[in-house]
Amino acid sequence: MAKRPNNANLTEEIISEAKRQAVAFEVQRLTAAAAREMRRTRPIPKCQFCNEEHPTKTCENFTAAEKKNLVIQYKLCFICLNKHNHHPAKCRTLRHQEELCTKKQCFNTYSLHHRTICVEPEHPQVSPPAGNGKAGNGKSLADRILEM
Ligand SMILES: [Zn+2]
Ligand SMILES: [Zn+2]
Ligand SMILES: [Zn+2]
Repeated sequence: MAKRPNNANLTEEIISEAKRQAVAFEVQRLTAAAAREMRRTRPIPKCQFCNEEHPTKTCENFTAAEKKNLVIQYKLCFICLNKHNHHPAKCRTLRHQEELCTKKQCFNTYSLHHRTICVEPEHPQVSPPAGNGKAGNGKSLADRILEM
């Protein structure tokens, strides 16, 4: 059995400590409930392209080329893909450089856009080697150039 505190002060202390803990627990409970409520009531972003409930930037229902056309059609921002009519230079997504297309081709032509709507090839198109494709296998590019 627990030892009964015979000191009145100690009893009071224990009670007040228990109350403090109860209050702290209650505050924590309410905070968590409030956070849950916030999550529940926050509107789910609707995709500008397909109208499904996901952020426009993560849409996988269209190809990059299709999305680029939709951006033009719906007059969306090329950088953030939102409807807000703002100048690209004022786009807040400019601060999130990791979201922007950084392909050299696009960079060189100053065509800023979100990386998910990029339709430029990663590298300039190189025409495939003529003749049968197997000839060059196993040889380094330098060897092949020397043979030419
Ligand atoms: Zn979508
Ligand atoms: Zn924007
Ligand atoms: Zn690009």
